[in-house]
Amino acid sequence: MIIVMNGKTDHSDVEKVINKLKELGHEVHISRGEKRIILGVIGNVENLVSVPFYAYNGVEEIIRILKPYKLASREFKDFDTTIKVKDIIIGGKEVIVMAGPCVVENEQQIFETAHQVKTLGAKILRGGAFKPRTSPYSFQGLGEEGLKLLAQAGKENGLAVVTEVMSVNQIDLIAKYTDIFQVGARNMQNFVLLTELGKTKKPILLKRGLSATIEELLLSAEYILSEGNYEVVLCERGIRTFENYTRNTLDLSAIPAIKILSHLPIIVDPSHGTGRWRLVSPMAKAAIAAGADGLIIEVHPDPKSSLSDGAQSLQLDTFAQLMKELRPIIQAVGREFGSSLENELERIKN
Ligand code: PEP
Ligand code: MN
Repeated sequence: MIIVMNGKTDHSDVEKVINKLKELGHEVHISRGEKRIILGVIGNVENLVSVPFYAYNGVEEIIRILKPYKLASREFKDFDTTIKVKDIIIGGKEVIVMAGPCVVENEQQIFETAHQVKTLGAKILRGGAFKPRTSPYSFQGLGEEGLKLLAQAGKENGLAVVTEVMSVNQIDLIAKYTDIFQVGARNMQNFVLLTELGKTKKPILLKRGLSATIEELLLSAEYILSEGNYEVVLCERGIRTFENYTRNTLDLSAIPAIKILSHLPIIVDPSHGTGRWRLVSPMAKAAIAAGADGLIIEVHPDPKSSLSDGAQSLQLDTFAQLMKELRPIIQAVGREFGSSLENELERIKN
């Protein structure tokens, strides 16, 4: 259930409603916009039915959210969520590019990639240290050594970093090195992991499961939000279909669909979405045209020698070409590339 209050309501009047909800045993999730303040209550709300909330100053509407996800829904928040990571805003007007290797392999590889992608306009460095490999015999990542290299390469090049967390017992370790926790497709419904990440204070990049529906993705986001971490970035990374020319079928329609259903930012991973490097650039451009807030792309200085996902990794020159070709598309959809933090903050305020 949500209680919609006028955005100009006195703080003390808002507090009165919150206190009433708390007194009746509810946790309150608050979304403050310019025009409206929304108080969200999830779970069983039967004991609220007889409370005369309309009698409270500032209360304009009481709505039962019918969707199974509540805090992730547009009903709860009718303006887009923006997430600040260092001096980067995800979900604002600027399109954010995250790039880097599938897996951190060694110092030379990650530093060279970081330097190049930064020069070309990427804002966030990706790289796995703990990898969810399909085969137990494949390279599983460098573990903490990989995290250290990723963090150093990010720091030296002025990039934020994102890396995957696969289990609850990795959270504390990874938190020491990363700016964003990535939840991989295979863990989208690891509800214990989502719940624990919901208790952290770092943004979560939540990838769509291999065969998850959009509703299931939003319900997984809800696990994180309902614990109090509202900083979730969704990621479309392709789903399993009968098509096997591509590794997955990149569901571009998920982008506008999620924009209708949710206020959370959505980015696209055309690397895992296609599995073939030749398809990465066209699908990256299509994703921006369809309204994605950003991209996460696998880039490797020498894909042929890559220890993971070489076939879908862009070489640095192909990545450079893509970054050039993206600009007119970003402009055509009214977005920006490389805007300053001040501009972004100013825009969000208005
Ligand atoms: C990755 O980004 O490295 C990855 C393993 O992706 P996904 O979870 O989407 O397969
Ligand atoms: Mn990969």
